[in-house]
Parts: sequence; C-alpha cells; structure tokens
Amino acid sequence: MPTCYLCGQSIRSLAAGFRRKVRTGEYVYRSRSKAVRTSYGLRVLCSRCAKRIDAQDLRQEFLWLLRFAIFLAILYILSRLAPPL
Ligand SMILES: [Zn+2]
Repeated sequence: MPTCYLCGQSIRSLAAGFRRKVRTGEYVYRSRSKAVRTSYGLRVLCSRCAKRIDAQDLRQEFLWLLRFAIFLAILYILSRLAPPL
C-alpha cells in the first residue's frame, strides 16, 4: 500500500493519491555523464498534503507577482524623479 511521502499516511490506492513536486534533495541524471542536483522530485502524497503543497505554490507565485509589481512601482517612481533631459 502506498504511503504519503510527507506525513506517512497510507493511501488506499495510487489513483487516490496525488502526485506533487516536493523537496527531496536527490540527484537526477539529466544526461549520461552529468548528475544534476535537484531539490525537487515527484512523489505521491495524500489529499491533505497535496492541498497544502498547492497552497504553498500559490502563495509563492503570488509573492513573485508582488515582488514584480513592487519592482515596476520603483522603476516608475525613479523615472518620475529623474530630471528631464
Ligand atoms: Zn500526507
């Protein structure tokens, strides 16, 4: 019986599990000679952990959007402050 990668709760069937990218710190071989260290891998999770991961991803995307908006606002303010040529 598969278990949730994060909390260890058993999942009744693989179809009932959710696959999400989670932080693992494993090595992934991208080419024949080179191992690329990656911190994320696809793992089976229970519905509760999958929801939590989804919420985290959404929050992270929102933070990036917020940073970009702040960056644009700073650029706008600087362009207004700059003396005309
Ligand atoms: Zn879980």
